[in-house]
Formats: sequence, structure tokens, C-alpha cells
Amino acid sequence: TDPETATEAMMPQEQDGSLRPRRMDEMVGQRDVIERLKIAIDAAQGRGEPLGHILFDGPPGLGKTTFATVIPTEMGSHVHMANGAGLKAPKDLLPYLTNLAEGDVLFIDEIHRVPKAVEEYLYTAMEDYRIDIVLGDGVSARTLNYELRPFTLIGATTRAGMLSAPLRDRFQIREHLGWYTEAELCEIVRRNSIKLKVPIDDPAANVIAGRSRRTPRLANNRLLWVRDYVQAKADGTVNAKTATAALDMIGIDPLGLDKQDRGYLDTLIRIFVGGPTGLEAIAHTMNVSSDTLEDEVEPFLLRSELIVRTRRGRIATVKAYNHMKLPPPEASA
Ligand code: ADP
Repeated sequence: TDPETATEAMMPQEQDGSLRPRRMDEMVGQRDVIERLKIAIDAAQGRGEPLGHILFDGPPGLGKTTFATVIPTEMGSHVHMANGAGLKAPKDLLPYLTNLAEGDVLFIDEIHRVPKAVEEYLYTAMEDYRIDIVLGDGVSARTLNYELRPFTLIGATTRAGMLSAPLRDRFQIREHLGWYTEAELCEIVRRNSIKLKVPIDDPAANVIAGRSRRTPRLANNRLLWVRDYVQAKADGTVNAKTATAALDMIGIDPLGLDKQDRGYLDTLIRIFVGGPTGLEAIAHTMNVSSDTLEDEVEPFLLRSELIVRTRRGRIATVKAYNHMKLPPPEASA
């Protein structure tokens, strides 16, 4: 495969959630978040009340959905999964709310995409476990008050800044999920290689962890690809050499950047002479949505100091020129 045409989409994905931790204690990293959640869970259970509503924010693949599934397990309750993009009208939300048993968790992923008209129903649901439905209109309009069983809403977003203040303020617990250390990712890779029954040595775990952009989901996907590769091409054992060859083959470089990440840097440096340039212009040139770039590409490039965001737009740093093996502006002038 030519690394320039290979994409992340070709990689095997953890579809069935088989690598997802089942309990909070099986989660790696995020120690302080876990500690605070455990206290909140213990306290709520002690009082015999539902856990307060929780908002998780952070880049994709860092464990928001995982938390939403392990928390109900800790509480002995069930989770109902919804996506903000699917809740287009109040009628889409109502079945979720009315199906909740006492103490259940309603998880709304991408909660920043819930439209305003639906969001308003969440206010009373969260605050008073109640929804008011207006039937008919004009003089014949009636309001039905519907009592809900006490529940916990868990919202997840990659864009905390896009949530309205009234919604944000109704979450008692707000947690930001940050990047994992390479040691934590190594631990995840090692544990999952045992689950997958692929023998893997420490240097190989380091290679996979090092090329996973500090993100558990990517570590899992890269591990699955490396497994496929060694089973097809080698004797099935993963070492640093086979892991490196497998990841090189699909265009994942030593920093963990994939083709799209490098396409972003290439566009910024070569087309826009390093910037500053607006996100929309980069997105148009690359023919991808600006949301994808902002959610999935830029966070790691910013964190790695390959780009900076200024009021005038995105700028490529000298580190980005060096990584792309292109002469920095001073040298080319
Ligand atoms: P998000 O909802 O933030 O996009 P997910 O919770 O879906 O991310 O995480 C993606 C995958 O990464 C999960 O299926 C799980 O296998 C793995 N993962 C996430 N967080 C952890 C963690 N703390 N420990 C171990 N594995 C994790």
C-alpha cells in the first residue's frame, strides 16, 4: 500500500467495544477524574439519591463514552445512549426520558448538537425530573406535566464552548478529559494485547503507544492493525520492527500523525505559506469539513506545538516545517 493513499479509515476499528473497560477500576489514567467521580457516586448512594448530572468534554477517543458506560455499572443501573445530532425535535427526546428507570443514566454524546428547542426540555428534566408538553395551540392549548423518574444525565462534547450557559450550569459535575501519557497508552496496549491474545513485547508496545497521539482509541485501532499485519505478513508475534513496518505501511509517522494530519500541515505550509490562515480556507482546500479538522486534527497539532492559533488564523511552527522536512521561512527567504 502506498502510504500516501492509505488512510485511517482502512484500519480495523474497535467496533464492538470489546476492548472497552467494563469497570472504572479497569480504566487506565484519568486518576483524578476517577477519584472525584467515586466520591460523588459514594455520596449519592449514601443519600439514596441519583448521581448529579455530569458533563465530559475533551477531544474524541479519550474515554467520554467509556465513563458513561462504567458509571452506571458502578451504580448498578443502566445506560441509555443517545446522540445530540439525532435529537432533532422534542419528540425524539421524549421516548428516552420516559423510558428511564429510577437511577438510570441517559448519555447524550455530542450534546452541543442538541437544538435549542430540544435543549429547553432538558432544563426541567434535569432540574425537576419533569417535562411540560404543550398540546394544541392558541386558546385550546393545554400543558401536560409529565413526571420523570430521578435519573442522571451524562453529556459528552468535544466543544464545551458551544454549550449554552443554562445547559452547562445544570451539570453538577464537569470534567475535562485530557491526553494520556505514553506510559498510560503503553499500559492500555499491553492489557488489550492480552485480551486479543497477541503476544507483544515492551518495545513494540512503546512503538504503538508512541504513534497513537496520546489517545486510547487510536492506540486500540493501531494495535488491531498491527495484529492483522503480523498475522498476515510475519509469524504473528509483534516486535518493534514489525509494529513499525505495519504503521509505516498505513502512513502513520513516528509522531503518530496520519495522512490527514500531514495533509493539514502540508496545506498550511505550502499553499498558505505557513499562515496565518483561517480554518475554513484550510478545510476548503483539503476538501474536508472544518468540524473534522477542529475536532480531530487540530487538537493534537496544537498540543504538539506544530501549529498555533492566533486571532488572525492558524500558523505553522518551525517544528512543523522540520517535521514535514520543508525549509522554514527564514531559510527559504
Ligand atoms: P470518546 O467517547 O471520548 O470519544 P471512548 O470512550 O469511546 O472515547 O474511548 C475510545 C476507546 O478507547 C474505548 O472503546 C476504550 O477501549 C478506550 N479507552 C478510552 N479510555 C480508556 C481508559 N481510560 N482506559 C482504557 N481504555 C480506554
